[in-house]
Amino acid sequence: MTEGPKYAYQLIRNTLRLTNDKYSFDFEVVGVLVGPSGEKFTIHKTLLVTSSSFCKAALSGDWKEAAEKSIKLPDHDAEAFGIYVKWLYTGRMYITKEGDDSTEEKEPGKKKYYSREFSRWLDCYQLGDYLQDPDFKDAAIDSLIDLTIGDKWWPVDLPNYVYPYSTPKSPHRRFVVDLGINCFSKDHVQGIRSAEMPHEYMKDLLVASYEHKEIWTKALSIKSWLESKDACEYHEHKTHGTGCYKTKYGY
Ligand SMILES: [Zn+2]
Repeated sequence: MTEGPKYAYQLIRNTLRLTNDKYSFDFEVVGVLVGPSGEKFTIHKTLLVTSSSFCKAALSGDWKEAAEKSIKLPDHDAEAFGIYVKWLYTGRMYITKEGDDSTEEKEPGKKKYYSREFSRWLDCYQLGDYLQDPDFKDAAIDSLIDLTIGDKWWPVDLPNYVYPYSTPKSPHRRFVVDLGINCFSKDHVQGIRSAEMPHEYMKDLLVASYEHKEIWTKALSIKSWLESKDACEYHEHKTHGTGCYKTKYGY
């Protein structure tokens, strides 16, 4: 049997986090109210606070949230939070939905479209950053990689969605830069001229372009570029010195 690409997640065995003794939890639950209408989610507290530093801080000490045993996230998307809750319990990011093949206008009246799946991905990535959950952010980056491989597409202004929610040394930023260095076509480079890009990204791209000038002229497919990469290459847990979410969830 030939070995598939390292990013072939569909081949990975799904073992629920709940079966792992290390992540056993008691029955205490907390409520999280999400979105402007305050959609309510009820979650086991231990599961939530071991994953999200934000929730851990909110539910301990003297915060009002701790006394009320509830957290309010009015500025976040309830659908994205629903994906987060499923991820907490299963280690799987259920981000694709029926109807995702269609596209929607990014801004009314402008001829700029993006996929519904990507839009949902962005809500999840922003949420993961706000909740300070590095595992969920790593899972989101893997989802993005799956999305780009599957659709052979990514928005040329992807740095605008990753840079504001990551730190300068984040492997997530490196993914965005490496993606450009390895897979940019001439059209992509032209696209950069008309897109507003983060200043930090342009600097990172320039430095990486110099360091990797030997590969700059060969536009690889995303799949063939990623085939040689280790599955944790672009995970932030490496910079935090912690384990991979895949190990925690028994992948
Ligand atoms: Zn990893």
